[in-house]
Amino acid sequence: VGDEFLCELARRLTTNLQRMGTVGRQGGDEFIVFLPDADEAAIEQVVARLHQAAAKPIVIDGHELAVSLSTGIAVCPDDGCDFQTLLKKADAAMYHAKAAGRNTHRYFTECMNSRFATHVSISSGLRRALERDEFVVFYQPQVRVTDRAVVGVEALIRWNHPQRGLLGPAEFITIAEDAGLIVPIGAWVLREACRQGTQWWREGRPLRVAVNLSALQFRGGGLEDAVRSALDESGLPPDLLELELTETVLLNVTDDVLTTIRRLRQMGVHLSIDDFGTGYSSLAYIRRLAVTRLKIDRTFVADIDTDPEAAVIAGTIVRMAHSLGLTTVAEGVESEAVLRILNDWGCDLAQGYLFGRPVPVSGLDAPATA
Ligand code: C2E
Ligand code: MG
Ligand code: MG
Repeated sequence: VGDEFLCELARRLTTNLQRMGTVGRQGGDEFIVFLPDADEAAIEQVVARLHQAAAKPIVIDGHELAVSLSTGIAVCPDDGCDFQTLLKKADAAMYHAKAAGRNTHRYFTECMNSRFATHVSISSGLRRALERDEFVVFYQPQVRVTDRAVVGVEALIRWNHPQRGLLGPAEFITIAEDAGLIVPIGAWVLREACRQGTQWWREGRPLRVAVNLSALQFRGGGLEDAVRSALDESGLPPDLLELELTETVLLNVTDDVLTTIRRLRQMGVHLSIDDFGTGYSSLAYIRRLAVTRLKIDRTFVADIDTDPEAAVIAGTIVRMAHSLGLTTVAEGVESEAVLRILNDWGCDLAQGYLFGRPVPVSGLDAPATA
C-alpha cells in the first residue's frame, strides 16, 4: 500500500508540474522539485498547485489515505548555486514548514541556518554524550489509586548538555532516532534503570521500573539481548522491569517484532502501551500481544473532571481494558478531582504531577512504598 501510495503521489506531482520542472524522489517520503526558470510568482503558483494536488485523499484498495505536504524552498542564486547547498537549505526550510503544522511551505532564511546548526550540533553532541556520561535518568512515581502507595517508577531520560544545561527528551530523542543513536542510548537507559531498580530492591523497596522504548529499538533484533544483559548484569528480577511501547511499534508488527515481544514476555518482563488513545490500535489486538498494561494518554485524563466527553472516553478505556484483564495507568494526573474520578472508575495506577514530577534518584528517596 505504501508503494502504491508513493506512486500515486508521484503521478500527481508530475502531472501538476506541467513541464515547468523535474520531480524526483529523494527517498522515504521526500520528493525534490527542480524549477529551472522560475521567478517568485511561478514558484508560488507551482507550490499551490502541488499542495492542491496532494490535498485530495488517495484511495487504495478502498482505503482513503490523506497526505499533507510540507515544502521547503531554496532559491538560486540567493541561497547558493550548487546542488548540495540548495538541497541542505531546502531541507532546513522543510523542517520549519513541518514544525509550522504541515501542509504549508517555507522559504529558506538565514536564521534557519542556526536552527539547522542546532540540529547538527545536537546530533554530533549526542555521539559523544554516551562516552562522556552526560545522560541522566530521572524517575517519576507511579502510585496505586486506592491508597497512593508508590508501587513503581517510570525512567525518563535527561541530557546534561555541557553548554545548554539539562535537556528533556523532546529536544533530542527524535534527533537521536534520525542519527541512528537511539539504539545505544536506549540500551544505556535499560542498564541504568535496571541497576537502580536492583539497588531499591536490595534496600527492600521492590519498585517496578518502567523504561520507554523507541520503535526503532525493535528493528535489527538487538533488543532482546539488550534487555537480557541489563537484567543479568544488574540482577534485577524480570518481574520488576516494565517496557513501555508506543502504538507506533504496533503499527508495524512484523514477525520479527512479534517474536521479540513473545521472547520478552517469556523472560518475565512486563509490557505496557504508552500514550494509549493517541494511535489507532484496538484493545483486542493489544491483548493478543501479551501486553499487561495500558497507560492512558494524559490528553484523555487531564479534563475528566470538567469535560464530560473526555470522561466518557477515558472511562470507557478503563472499563474495556479491565474486561480484557489489562491493568490501567492514568498519565498526567494533576488534581485531586481527577484522582477521585479515577478511583470511582477503579483505575489501578496513576502517575502525574499530583504525586511528583520526574526527579533524579536523590530526590525520590523520601516517600514510603507499598
Ligand atoms: P512519556 O513516556 O509519555 O512520559 C511521560 C511524560 O509526561 C514525561 O515527560 C513526564 O515528565 C510528563 N508528565 C508526567 N506527569 C505529568 C503531568 O501531570 N502533567 C504534565 N503536563 N506532564 C506530565 P518527559 O520526561 O519530558 O518525556 C517525554 C517523552 O519522551 C516520554 O513520554 C517518552 O515518550 C520519551 N522518553 C523519555 N525517556 C525516554 C527514553 O529513555 N527512551 C525513549 N525512547 N523515549 C523516552
Ligand atoms: Mg512512557
Ligand atoms: Mg506516556
